[in-house]
Amino acid sequence: MTILTVTLNPAIDIAYQLDHLALGSMNRVSKLSKTAGGKGLNVSRVLDELGADVIATGFADRRLGTELIRELEGGGISCRFTRIIGRTRNCIAILHAGMQTEILEKGPTILKEEKEAFLQAFEKSLGDVEAITMSGSLPAGLDPDFYSQLVKLASQRNKPVLVDISGLALEALVNAEIKPTLIKPNIEEFSMLLGLEIGLENVKEALNEPLFDGIDWIVISLGKAGTIARVKGELYRVRIPEIAVINPVGSGDASVAGLAFGMTIGASIEDCLKLANVCGMLNAQEAQTGHINMEHFPELFEQIKVEKI
Ligand code: ATP
Repeated sequence: MTILTVTLNPAIDIAYQLDHLALGSMNRVSKLSKTAGGKGLNVSRVLDELGADVIATGFADRRLGTELIRELEGGGISCRFTRIIGRTRNCIAILHAGMQTEILEKGPTILKEEKEAFLQAFEKSLGDVEAITMSGSLPAGLDPDFYSQLVKLASQRNKPVLVDISGLALEALVNAEIKPTLIKPNIEEFSMLLGLEIGLENVKEALNEPLFDGIDWIVISLGKAGTIARVKGELYRVRIPEIAVINPVGSGDASVAGLAFGMTIGASIEDCLKLANVCGMLNAQEAQTGHINMEHFPELFEQIKVEKI
């Protein structure tokens, strides 16, 4: 069982730990980490930890991109990135006095011939996988409908596509003629898509908007409140127990991994939704983004309640 993960704008995530951030002055770093980052790479790692075979794809340069590929391959994840001339980005998080200050580079501009090379490689890889996940922002040089182009290619091969994106790219995706199998906005991204403030009181109505016709799985993640979803026309509410949270960043990515894993092993709708929440919770229980500890899986899985509403 192999899953293709698409990360079009990956990054080296740098975390600098400082006792105190002194603006306009020199800061010496006491502790640091550098890891391959980007939402799709979090999905890749969690899928790998769940036991799936993963092929990671996207765009990478020959400097940081090579570093990133080396790290993924070292962790047992196959990589098929399209090489680019533009520079793969660094994203910096400065952790100081209980705060996190982030400095995010925009990333490279993808050239026309690099885009064509990626599309060809993507189409070729489709024959080797059972499902595809797509996550995160589009680098410059790609039109907002780029994800829709990928969905179209995958649907010609009858491969399920799970998409976790936001903003204009999500708008283009849901309005396209060929629909993805699944979208997983969080409630803020869902509100932005509809241009309405959505909360628990009106989310059911929103899920039944004609805009979502043709998308089998609309999974709205609600952080510690679990999930609400419309799957094949039926509404589901997933309730989760309270847990001690260490770092919830990337929990949505872990949820996408859980959903992709469940769908590829042929799990029931209820179990796929449980898997999404277990993986999200397991990620939130760890300091490292995009990492789950499978030891705690069974006890959490048992405590999750899924009901039709
Ligand atoms: P990200 O963009 O950081 O990947 P997200 O906003 O897309 O995250 P969330 O809705 O925050 O996704 O989380 C996804 C899932 O992870 C939730 O449905 C839930 O199961 C779990 N989760 C997230 N935060 C918490 C929390 N504080 N306590 C318990 N579970 C959580």
